Amino acid sequence: MQLTKENITIDAAWKLMNEINDPEIPVLSITDLGIVRDIKLNEIEIEIFITPTYSGCPAMNVIAMNIRMILWQNEFKKIKITQQLSPAWTTDWMTEAGKQKLKSYGIAPPVGKSFDKNYLEKLLVECPHCHSMNTKLISQFGSTSCKALYQCNDCLEPFDYFKCH
Ligand SMILES: [Zn+2]
Repeated sequence: MQLTKENITIDAAWKLMNEINDPEIPVLSITDLGIVRDIKLNEIEIEIFITPTYSGCPAMNVIAMNIRMILWQNEFKKIKITQQLSPAWTTDWMTEAGKQKLKSYGIAPPVGKSFDKNYLEKLLVECPHCHSMNTKLISQFGSTSCKALYQCNDCLEPFDYFKCH
């Protein structure tokens, strides 16, 4: 393919970012999660600003590698990836579409915007299987540290809840 200025656009780069899935939750793209904060493009290079969901998250290396790979395959040759640590990532950046995808994947999406340490006990979390609100917290930590384990009192299915932070 002939490389022209016109086919290298920020829009095209955003579309490519939407094709990259989160390694820990493969149903979510990194744009669903709000990990990609900004994209800058100039004559010389493309720069992608990403914010890790959790500090020291090993998935970020995989994500950075996947960003490089997909951009490279699409004619972006000079790529810079900048980790933006401040402001810290928050579940508020997750898109509505992302929350819906989580739910159909069987993970309850984050509810509210609380930073209260004990909020998990007070929280009303909807069961992603039967949609009952009659659920209870089993453990603060689910399959990964960003999730808590809940159980539904109606259908008795355990499920992960994606914690707010
Ligand atoms: Zn249920």
